[in-house]
Amino acid sequence: MTTGKDHIDLRELHNSEIPLPDGLQNNVALTTLSQLYNWGRARSTWPLLFGLACCAIEMIATAAARYDLSRFGMEVMRASPRQADLLIVSGTVTKKMVVPIVRIFNQMPEPRYALAMGACASGGGPFKEGYNVVSGIDKFIPVDVYVPGCPPTPQALLYGLITLHRKMESSSLNNINSVPWYGRGPSDEIPLPILGPDIIDPRQTEILRKEIESFNASMQEMQAEA
Ligand code: SF4
Repeated sequence: MTTGKDHIDLRELHNSEIPLPDGLQNNVALTTLSQLYNWGRARSTWPLLFGLACCAIEMIATAAARYDLSRFGMEVMRASPRQADLLIVSGTVTKKMVVPIVRIFNQMPEPRYALAMGACASGGGPFKEGYNVVSGIDKFIPVDVYVPGCPPTPQALLYGLITLHRKMESSSLNNINSVPWYGRGPSDEIPLPILGPDIIDPRQTEILRKEIESFNASMQEMQAEA
């Protein structure tokens, strides 16, 4: 594990609720299993090597020497979703691309996280309501952190990553709802959206069917009255 330092700062790991004499603070850490687990997970998150549009350039800059993701133990961007913990959706999500994005997210092992980088990934951005763009990746996969901006700067992405670390650090092994992958096993796969004249989320098929039936019924009523 990389910490970006030549030693581990034990004060990061020490549980502040447990008193420790001043002289021992750099040498001894008394902590909980949850804190140790969260600390390790937050400092070894491997992002997926994956970019969609202009925002990806800022993500690449964040990983380069000036901003240096390796200080968080995140410098290893994995080319395989099987080995990645974090999907940074960096760019415009077109209807054509949302299908492979959901497939890739399904292939990532749990615990897995998703960060929507930029206005496009968060809500459609300047292309919102465009014929070929979805209005946010959160319509299809669960998003943990949103980073606003068009494009967000590397500093903004770093702040988003720190926010994700805080979220990870808030989970507790005592509460199975915050670590569900240890409780009920792997979650169900997200159904792949169907690409047609428009994108269809299979989870909304029933809602769409009812809307079409209601539309047809109102059209028939109007024709009967005419
Ligand atoms: S949010 Fe702006 S910079 Fe990012 S992909 Fe969309 S248009 Fe490009």
